[in-house]
Amino acid sequence: MRDSDWTRILDWPGYRVYQHEINEKAKLLTLWVRRKRGNKKLVCSACGRRCTTIHEIVTREVRDLPWGLYRTTVVVELYRVKCPDCGPRIEKVDQLPSKAPFSKRFEETVGEACESASARRVARQFALSESTVRAIDLRYLERWSASRRKPSLRQLGVDELFLGKRTKFVTVVSNLESGEPVWFGEDRKKETLDGYFRTELSRSQRHRIEAACVDMWAPFQRSIEEWAPKCMLVYDRFHVMQHANKAVDEVRRSEFFRKGGWRREVVKGKRWLLLTRWVNLSEQKQQQLNQLFALNRRLMKAYLLKESLERLWQQPNENAAREYLRAWVRQLRWQRLPSFEKLAHLLLDHQEGLLAFYRVKIRFGVVEAINGNIRALLRRGRGYRNLRYLLLKAQRIAATKTEFIALRKAA
Ligand SMILES: [Zn+2]
Repeated sequence: MRDSDWTRILDWPGYRVYQHEINEKAKLLTLWVRRKRGNKKLVCSACGRRCTTIHEIVTREVRDLPWGLYRTTVVVELYRVKCPDCGPRIEKVDQLPSKAPFSKRFEETVGEACESASARRVARQFALSESTVRAIDLRYLERWSASRRKPSLRQLGVDELFLGKRTKFVTVVSNLESGEPVWFGEDRKKETLDGYFRTELSRSQRHRIEAACVDMWAPFQRSIEEWAPKCMLVYDRFHVMQHANKAVDEVRRSEFFRKGGWRREVVKGKRWLLLTRWVNLSEQKQQQLNQLFALNRRLMKAYLLKESLERLWQQPNENAAREYLRAWVRQLRWQRLPSFEKLAHLLLDHQEGLLAFYRVKIRFGVVEAINGNIRALLRRGRGYRNLRYLLLKAQRIAATKTEFIALRKAA
């Protein structure tokens, strides 16, 4: 095979193979490449400026995609240019995106493999260390992130996520329209979210935010009110129902301790049933609940209250919803359910944000879906001590999923 054939198969734009070596025993292929004669454009890697003076010629070895069973090393001839601004610097070469000993397309292949497999598996596949795979994946994601257009931010989701004993809580800011996380911050204080508004958004970007979907968590609210004054607060239905579930569970626990003997046995182990919506239960499970309710009216009342709260979001308009909420609270009188009385106070105190749902169209469930993705990533990967890496990974998942759906629709 002539060098021009090697050049064609290697297919590095602007570069040609001038020497090669095949090691059959070790299954190694080494190719020496240098610029094609017509390729004269030199660019400083530090500032991107075009340069004309060459300081010296050096070589670099990088791992490239394999040729069949042969692991391929490319030895590239590179110029150190004399940049008028930076002094002697290495030239910028598209196939060499970083200082690491890998070609761009090799890194891309590893990065793509990381999208569907754990770093450990990819490491085995390419005979690299796990930490190297993570570093390659991070660079791959950073390049993707830098090259894409970021969707504009008009609807914000703010939630917290428990990351484990070391990092504890992380504040997750997401874009509800594109369905992707946009920022992670350690902790869940007002200052945490303040940090996002201060460092990530310009004044006009902050003013363009029209709505935020949040939990009834005062620190986040105070931060949003301060930094995004035009933003309407909408309480996430999911979180409100979590509070309602907690109230049911408190009733269950107090009944559990109040009753003795076989009655206690009936309440025992019914937690999951009580926290599941009626429509999502099988007939058999519904029957089990009915048996429980026949014995314990208080639990039944609590369960029905929770179920009926769900309809707050199914009213024809805001006024009807406001009336529905009042009626719901009125039902609590004489029921002696302290956990629900507490919930009622919480709901009435946050009435405006609850009913804001009728004033601004917001997709509930996005925040939860994003959190679910992040949790799945954490379960699969471990080693996300680098929050930036975790964020990029979660963004990529969100972005590729939308692409997938878009393709399916077109088909
Ligand atoms: Zn320069």
